[in-house]
Amino acid sequence: MYESFIGLEVHIHLLTKTKVFCGCRSAFGDEPNTDVCPVCMGYPGVLPSLNIEAMRMGCMVARAFNCRIPEKTWFERKQYFYPDMPKNYQISQFASPLGQQGSVDIEGKIGGKYIKKRVRIKECHLEEDAGKMIHTGTVSLLDYNRAGVSLLEIVTEPDMETGEEAELFIHQLRRTVRYLGVCDGDMEKGSLRADANVSINFPGKGLGKKVEIKNLNSSRFVKLGLNYEIARQGALLDAGKTVVQETRLWNENRDETQSMRKKENAHDYRYFPEPDLPVFIPDAAFLRSVDEAMVELPLERVKRMIAEYGLSEEQADLICEEKAQADYFEAAVAEAAAGKAAERGLSKKDAAARIANWLLQDIKHILGREGIELRELGSFRLNPKRLAGLVSMSAAGKISGKNAKQILEAVIKEDRDPEVIAKERGWELISDPAKIAGAVKAVAETETATLTEARAADDKRRQTLTAYLVGRVLSATGGRADPKIAGKQVEELIRGE
Ligand code: ADP
Ligand code: ZN
Ligand code: MG
Repeated sequence: MYESFIGLEVHIHLLTKTKVFCGCRSAFGDEPNTDVCPVCMGYPGVLPSLNIEAMRMGCMVARAFNCRIPEKTWFERKQYFYPDMPKNYQISQFASPLGQQGSVDIEGKIGGKYIKKRVRIKECHLEEDAGKMIHTGTVSLLDYNRAGVSLLEIVTEPDMETGEEAELFIHQLRRTVRYLGVCDGDMEKGSLRADANVSINFPGKGLGKKVEIKNLNSSRFVKLGLNYEIARQGALLDAGKTVVQETRLWNENRDETQSMRKKENAHDYRYFPEPDLPVFIPDAAFLRSVDEAMVELPLERVKRMIAEYGLSEEQADLICEEKAQADYFEAAVAEAAAGKAAERGLSKKDAAARIANWLLQDIKHILGREGIELRELGSFRLNPKRLAGLVSMSAAGKISGKNAKQILEAVIKEDRDPEVIAKERGWELISDPAKIAGAVKAVAETETATLTEARAADDKRRQTLTAYLVGRVLSATGGRADPKIAGKQVEELIRGE
């Protein structure tokens, strides 16, 4: 067995409206080469200026990963030539990135086993993205809309050991940046991309020769690519060979990594401070604005929701997958525990258990069927108040379970309150004991023989006869008597009370 070391470099597109050093629109899917200007095209004599929103979002991520934000942060030029980069250098951060030396815990199930692990974050730095090259059969086309778009790179220390852990890290990072509202996390569109570094070595020998798998655009490929590499490198060491330090690519058609270029030991990028941008000093006012924009992070929220609502870990994790869903859930629970249900004794935990069930089963099914995204829950017709109303009626025995499901559908279809629908359709159960007593009395008069038998019968037979009599009471009320109350009254009748 060998020890393995995995470090990730994750790039995220920040959701700034404009690019990081000019006023061009930052958008995906615009007509090629329309979101460009002399600054992002690198014309001589132009001056970049920092988009403060990008700096703020970057610092939010730094905070989320417990990084230190330095007293001064600045930019460097990273020189290299590539056609997708019109300036022939990229403005990036090198000596004093905006976030330094943080750490984050990854937690979750891997193959049925719960794992918790601390991953150190080396740094978070802000830079500009390059343009996009589209290779056709004979020519390569260039779209510079992406050139200059705000990109944040998050670099971990080599603290992970398996492809599964790396996948979990990406999943957690993605959920975090989406909660913060700084990135849409869409790996297919390239808003979140990862380079995965991996080496193996004999136990106790420390880091091995690293291989970098570049440009992974799905967390599954991160996992597959890394596990493939760990096996490939292991076979090399088994055979007494050495691993070559190089950059490889994941070939998704062949499920293997392939060599892209042998890495000359560290590129000489000739970094030097960007002379056209001033040093940025995150002053108290700026840091306050960062802190004010922070939200409760997903993992903290999962833990709080387990403690506060008595949810299972799995339920809390599913509900917290999207911030909009967690917000919806908590709003509905607050409504249910504050409303009429509370007067009838529906506690917060009881309300939460019922709402979690609705949300993760029937509502989830309906959202899927109607093609509604979780983030659209804010404008869903079944708003938290209506869901709370439905749950409260159901918990109080005012409607049957079957009717509750029909009301759920009707609320969504008709955009009306559940109470109104229940009343209008005559689906409100009769819960007034006096009204039910009337029906019980009528049944007693016609079922004297059954009653006599029930009184003399053994437990089992008596239960059968009780169920029969309750059924008679329910049908006498058109199925609207609350079955619990009817049952209680029938039992009393048999006991002769
Ligand atoms: P480079 O200068 O080649 O970009 P860095 O030191 O910046 O290397 O590290 C880049 C990434 O590679 C980081 O995520 C780091 O954790 C990881 N890394 C560095 N050395 C190794 C190694 N020997 N094995 C595995 N991962 C490594
Ligand atoms: Zn521009
Ligand atoms: Mg590096």
